[in-house]
Amino acid sequence: MTITHNLGFPRIGVQRELKRALEAYWAGNLSAQALDDTGRELRARHWQLQARSGLDFVPVGDFAWYDHILEWTTLLGAVPARFAQSDKEAVDLDTLFRMGRGRAPKGTPAAACEMTKWFDTNYHYIVPELVPQQSYRIARSYLFDQIREAQALGHSVKPVIPGPLTWLWLGKGDAFAQGAGDVAKLALLENLLPVYKEVLRQVKALGVEWVQIDEPILGLDLPGPWREAFERVYGELAQAGVRVLLASYFERLDENIQVLKGLPVQGVHIDLLRAPDQLNDVLAVLGDDQVLSLGLIDGRNVWRTDLDRARAVAEPLAARLGDRLWLAPSCSLLHVPVDLDAEKELDAELRSWLSFATQKLDELAWLADSLSAAPAPATQEALQRQRSALQAKKESARIHNGAVQARLEASAGLARNRRPFAERIVVQQEKLRLPAYPTTTIGSFPQTAEIRVSRRDWKNGALSDAAYESAMRKEIEQVIRFQERVGLDVLVHGEAERNDMVEYFGELLGGFAFTQNGWVQSYGSRCVKPPIIFGDVARPAAMTVAWSAYAQSLTDKPVKGMLTGPVTILQWSFVRDDQPRETTCRQLALALRDEVLDLEAAGIAVIQIDEPAFREGLPLRRADWKRYLEWAVDCFRLSTGAVRDETQIHTHMCYSEFNDIIEAIAAMDADVITIETSRSNMELLGAFEDFRYPNDIGPGVYDIHSPNVPEVEWMVGLMQKAAKRLPSERLWVNPDCGLKTRGWAETEAALVRMVSAAQALRYT
Ligand code: GLN
Ligand code: ZN
Repeated sequence: MTITHNLGFPRIGVQRELKRALEAYWAGNLSAQALDDTGRELRARHWQLQARSGLDFVPVGDFAWYDHILEWTTLLGAVPARFAQSDKEAVDLDTLFRMGRGRAPKGTPAAACEMTKWFDTNYHYIVPELVPQQSYRIARSYLFDQIREAQALGHSVKPVIPGPLTWLWLGKGDAFAQGAGDVAKLALLENLLPVYKEVLRQVKALGVEWVQIDEPILGLDLPGPWREAFERVYGELAQAGVRVLLASYFERLDENIQVLKGLPVQGVHIDLLRAPDQLNDVLAVLGDDQVLSLGLIDGRNVWRTDLDRARAVAEPLAARLGDRLWLAPSCSLLHVPVDLDAEKELDAELRSWLSFATQKLDELAWLADSLSAAPAPATQEALQRQRSALQAKKESARIHNGAVQARLEASAGLARNRRPFAERIVVQQEKLRLPAYPTTTIGSFPQTAEIRVSRRDWKNGALSDAAYESAMRKEIEQVIRFQERVGLDVLVHGEAERNDMVEYFGELLGGFAFTQNGWVQSYGSRCVKPPIIFGDVARPAAMTVAWSAYAQSLTDKPVKGMLTGPVTILQWSFVRDDQPRETTCRQLALALRDEVLDLEAAGIAVIQIDEPAFREGLPLRRADWKRYLEWAVDCFRLSTGAVRDETQIHTHMCYSEFNDIIEAIAAMDADVITIETSRSNMELLGAFEDFRYPNDIGPGVYDIHSPNVPEVEWMVGLMQKAAKRLPSERLWVNPDCGLKTRGWAETEAALVRMVSAAQALRYT
């Protein structure tokens, strides 16, 4: 009999119960006891749900109050000194919250630990802080408590913990400046492994048979010493005497397959969604008594599984491996929404194509049962239903748009090249007549309660189209007048009509669907509801032209048209899996190309195409970067390449690690790029300096994440530093990012000073 298990379940709750409880607790409106009850209820409900669908093991340890890496860091007692935790006492929940978000109902606020993206997902984990000679101890008991909790409910459990090598890889510390793969970090294993071993011993003492240890770094390019460390680490952990399932996911193992050879673990999990081709190579190193767990249900996307295809992979192995064959989703289900049944507005056809975490468990059960000697009639029916739904999807007219496909085919011949920048900038300058150090903002202005109410009322029909339009026009007018008063050079319309920079465009494009409740945890209590791109992307009508043209009609200064770029829309959506991501991205690019041309025709002289997600699209393996960057750049150029030379194209990226992508950024060839740099003291302009980046650039002069109003001298100083690195004629003055989360008072004060700073720069 094949064993089924799950690597992790979303913890947030179908109605985002955890979010609500956490935020109420942080605000002082919920007791610690009530918060604890919410967590316990959610765990019980999720275990129950997983057990009911027939899993042989339910995961324990996947629940987290804020982030599972943070949970584990606190269990190891790795609490930075500024959180004033004595190394004797147990780490309490408020300390964990202070580490995650800087403050909690109890304890002194302190700078939160850094947060960053979990591999190539949109989930963020709290970065462990590493110190040489750090000592570790079991400082929390949640793992053991939750194992007992699940056992008391009658479940057969498989605890899930982050592997020591992945935990160290993700960690940072001033002493380890060489990046994630600094070999010096491996010295910490000395103190770390005894604690891991003790955890495993205690887990075993609770009657646990299997522990899943997650080492997703096996999907990365690992330096030799890290690869070699696996043997030692797992050799030591084996002494605890509990069976270990070593889990990899998100990427192919490639050369790391050799790490598995002879490794003293009792089983291995591999992601066959991302890397279907690695199966035989892994089988070749699998020991005679090792378990192989196949990830055949997509934990990263929302589509129904092609169970016939999954079966075709698993069936030959079922005979060969018997009960050493395990089946699972490809990775934790943390990355998909909880339950499709919570969607009340999706039509039946779309619904029949989708599968959220709860549905994926059913798929897993059907898959396993279909491999048994006598599959239940209900399984046969389910398989048949699934088959017909997927067949219908393949043929559905909603997915296939002949015009879009024809255009895509012809797109190779579409222009992407304008005249060289040096020539373009001359005609742009003739037209725009901007001063030295031109000032601008990134796009959004404060989203007041009034704006949000208008948008909501219009959406649910309480506000007429005409009333909504006039409310938005009023906002635009105020924002334009404000910018004129402050003295900015290139204005924006303020983005009041946009709830979200991806959702806004998705709602106006064909091929997108939206859920009511399809929340996925992003960080802490924050969730996002990614749009679903299910079909060919078409633009039935202009999307932003009326707003931008209205804004431009109010002023003689140039107003930037404001669009979200193709890569960013792709990155922040659930993307169809029946064609390569790059094909979908090109369709988005073509739709945006039309929008860009319409903006130009409407008299918009400056058009900004935001690509904040450009870098996060980089594949996990370096060998794949080139290919990605080629199509990502091509998509950007496809969106922008048709405009006249005098139309100025801007782009914006709100982060500052550009070393890996500077060449690609240059190839995008935007006339102006605005970036986030203020917190790095302009040091992160180094990539542009070294590359001798030729086009215009606006290094952000103040951090929009904080309400603090920057000093004029400070901004002048930053720009002077920038001017040491790049020609001053190429520099713009702007904030780090959009202002939508700021209040008006600080926005006005900051921009007035920013304009003074630019004036000071012009006259020195
Ligand atoms: N134009 C967007 C804004 O100003 C850009 C947001 C972003 O880069 N994330 O809000
Ligand atoms: Zn930004």
